[in-house]
Amino acid sequence: MYTRTLKRSWIWGSLVMAVIFSGCVSPGPEVQHEKDVLPYNHDLLMGILWQQNSGEYSALCYQAFNAGKAYMASLPSGEKRAVVLDIDETLLDNSKYAAWMVTTGNPWGSDTWEAWCNAREADAIPGSLDFARSLREQGIELFYVSNRPGSTAESTIENLQHLGFPLADPDHVFLQEHTSDKNPRLERIRSLGYDIVLLAGDSLEDFDSTTRKWTNQERREWAGAGRESLGAYRIVLPNAVYGTFESAIVPNYYGLSLQEKAQARLEKIKAWKPSQLNP
Ligand SMILES: [Mg+2]
Repeated sequence: MYTRTLKRSWIWGSLVMAVIFSGCVSPGPEVQHEKDVLPYNHDLLMGILWQQNSGEYSALCYQAFNAGKAYMASLPSGEKRAVVLDIDETLLDNSKYAAWMVTTGNPWGSDTWEAWCNAREADAIPGSLDFARSLREQGIELFYVSNRPGSTAESTIENLQHLGFPLADPDHVFLQEHTSDKNPRLERIRSLGYDIVLLAGDSLEDFDSTTRKWTNQERREWAGAGRESLGAYRIVLPNAVYGTFESAIVPNYYGLSLQEKAQARLEKIKAWKPSQLNP
């Protein structure tokens, strides 16, 4: 049954392999055969390898959460303080799902992504559990705001609870409802009387939803303009496997074929053109 579901997914499902793992199904051409997808999934390989194996990835995660702790320690105490935490690639490591795409040739699909979420097998990002627990010990309210589909709420909460994340319950876990824009959910938290004193995420949209439709040049400028808030009010986790940075390389990226996407990625990198070396 599951095999049949997966088979159906790469015939009928969304064929954008690197769409943000957020429940957003992107339009794209149909791919009929696994061999059509497999080479393009391999663009994910180094990012997954880095996330799952490197000490540098772990170090960057610890560094991000250490910055968050230092910033929190610098704040004056206050009533009803809240921290908003993204889930995927901020608290939960989904690289096994991406690795499944690489090893099987399956594209990203909303049904297989949901199956992964419902498997509750995501591990904790290095340092994330300690960060969440330390905040809770200080009396900080935690809200988990994610663009996982709402249909995965029970599984996502159980995954977080199993790992030991505090306050992982329906009152504190806000998944995607009608929009991927997190602002309405942040406003709901504020309407409960909470002062959001820190946000943590792996995507610029976790901090400013308007960046979703921006070019990468504009996204870099956003980062530069807001540099003082980074490692302070905004804690950014590394994610080299997926993100809006990919679709932002060219307009209408999700309307391109797999081959066109691959070509667009290749054309976007800046290569050295040596004049002194033999070809
Ligand atoms: Mg995320």
